[in-house]
Amino acid sequence: MGLKLLNTLTRSVQDFVPLDPSGKNVGLYCCGPTVYDFAHIGNWRTFVFSDLVRRCLEFQGYQVRHVMNITDVDDKIIKRVKESGGTLTEFTGKFERAFFEDLGTLRCRLPHHTPRATEHIPQIVELIGRLLARGLAYQTPDGSVYFSIQKYRDAGQQYGQLVHLNFEEMRIGERVASDEYAKESVADFALWKARVPEDGGVFWPSPWGEGRPGWHIECSAMSMQLLGPSFDLHLGGEDLMFPHHEDEIAQSEGAGVQAPGQRFVKYWLHGAHLLVEGKKMSKSLGNFFTLRDLVAKGFSGREIRYLLLTAHYRETFNFTIEGLQGARSSLQRIDECVSKLRELAAGSTGTADPSLVRKLTLPLEEDLNISGAWGAVFEWIRETNRKLADNTVTAEQAATWLASWERVDEVFGVSLPAVAAVPAEITALVEARQAARKAKDFKQADAIREQLKALGWVLEDTPKGVRAKRIGS
Ligand code: AMP
Ligand code: ZN
Repeated sequence: MGLKLLNTLTRSVQDFVPLDPSGKNVGLYCCGPTVYDFAHIGNWRTFVFSDLVRRCLEFQGYQVRHVMNITDVDDKIIKRVKESGGTLTEFTGKFERAFFEDLGTLRCRLPHHTPRATEHIPQIVELIGRLLARGLAYQTPDGSVYFSIQKYRDAGQQYGQLVHLNFEEMRIGERVASDEYAKESVADFALWKARVPEDGGVFWPSPWGEGRPGWHIECSAMSMQLLGPSFDLHLGGEDLMFPHHEDEIAQSEGAGVQAPGQRFVKYWLHGAHLLVEGKKMSKSLGNFFTLRDLVAKGFSGREIRYLLLTAHYRETFNFTIEGLQGARSSLQRIDECVSKLRELAAGSTGTADPSLVRKLTLPLEEDLNISGAWGAVFEWIRETNRKLADNTVTAEQAATWLASWERVDEVFGVSLPAVAAVPAEITALVEARQAARKAKDFKQADAIREQLKALGWVLEDTPKGVRAKRIGS
């Protein structure tokens, strides 16, 4: 058996078969962050979902090339840059750095390529040039370039592959300049936006005059540049299905760069949205959380990752703080069992048991049925705990189970590392604090605790005494 995925393009669950004739290489593209603010946990649900897809593919032995773009120029960014008073890169750089830090906090495998839109202007210009040459795009008097839906359809191509569109009700021939618009206002969309005073210093030269790219063309240009004109998987949140992904298909297939009979993308996967306490997240409702907000509340990256991975990706997920507390105790159950196995195995390395690994990961093959997989994991934890309590587990068995779990956790990415190596300078500070406490110099002890915190370590009481733990581990 192999991986099955629900393809938005065909609206059916299909066997995953890579385009690569050798069956080994897989191209995966996920629309990345628009770096105009800190990514919120809704965004993170989608990015963790793409990490899960990648990990599942790698677990199955595929060689994945994972691309996630950085949208560093679009309508929203330009507005904020203007408000900030700084330059485009000063503004986006801050949020881009935060994005990569957060990616690490959530234990996401770093994509192999994270292209910035602003560094792909030549590819974008070239793609627009092709669309113009093929008669699928046209220039307006202000110097902007638009994609013509009518011309595209006249050429026998289908606009509306991911979503059904009612062309009777649409105002074909009208134009929409903004990057985001609703299905009801479907219209020719901007590929190149002529420079206007509000853009400030954000513009590039082009054969059509100074201006900047539209959002949709950025993803077409960067994905095809790095993965070729046809690739396996394209992911994003459900809100991107229309217009963003529909427009990506139109631009990429309209350019006619695919081999005969090939599509731009073989499988489109869309993650459902995350709600907070049943409502759409919004700053005015006070239910808006960035990852950093949750870390500041004392939750670790792996707790948040675990919670985001509890529901099936196509189910709307209701985020709550109680849910995070539940994630904490579920992880504790895993940690306790794993640490007992580690103690019993006493450092001996076992070999994973293929049938156990399969049992715990098999549900994932059914369109990433993660709740099924967690069900199997907790069932196994229960059984293992029972055997551990009976004292019937040998060191050899413990080592085998441990190796099996570690293999399974290559997909989940939630386990604690075997030994959290503590650097000597941290150990020295912990000892200095113990000495200060012994001498009843609590002021000094507190100061050292603060110093440790600033270095990214917290102190934790364990039955074996106080130990330092890296924040977020
Ligand atoms: P953006 O930075 O707005 O371009 O969004 C980045 C990614 O996050 C896209 O794939 C969006 O579909 C996704 N996204 C935005 N809001 C949510 C949400 N509430 N839940 C899940 N995914 C979201
Ligand atoms: Zn995109």
